[in-house]
Amino acid sequence: MATFKETFLNIFIFIKYSASEILREKRVCVYWGTGVVELKCSRCGLCCHDTEMLLSSRDIARIEALGYKREEFVVITPDGFRQLRNVDGKCFFFRGECMVYDSRPEGCVYYPVILNFDGKTCIVDEECPNHHTLTKKEIRESCKKLKKLYREIVKEAKGT
Ligand code: SF4
Repeated sequence: MATFKETFLNIFIFIKYSASEILREKRVCVYWGTGVVELKCSRCGLCCHDTEMLLSSRDIARIEALGYKREEFVVITPDGFRQLRNVDGKCFFFRGECMVYDSRPEGCVYYPVILNFDGKTCIVDEECPNHHTLTKKEIRESCKKLKKLYREIVKEAKGT
């Protein structure tokens, strides 16, 4: 039987297989985050497709303050985690562009820095066309905050 931590990790695992990646390598990414990153985001929206982005209580409160109702944009996973709702394969807030960009979830702010399986190390998702604009320092700082958010989200999901 899977432990709570294993179950948690499984939920957030994005197994990203593009046609070329299947031939080249299997890339497995775990995603969530918090904080400020200087990524030169072109707002291409690639990361808004089939999102499994987790939400913290702070994310939800910030977006609700814009007038959205949580029932509209939050789905609850079987294990009690809150994540962004998809509509027709895209994030609820993606309408050609992100409708809540300045208040977007912390995990979206940090992307393309994502946590690795172990929850202790980070990788940069090369599917983001601008991933190369991140500096090593930015990656390090994001990673630190990602780990902190990971702990926070687990606590919230457990109700502790
Ligand atoms: S994939 Fe990268 S460049 Fe495109 S919207 Fe997401 S973060 Fe921005």
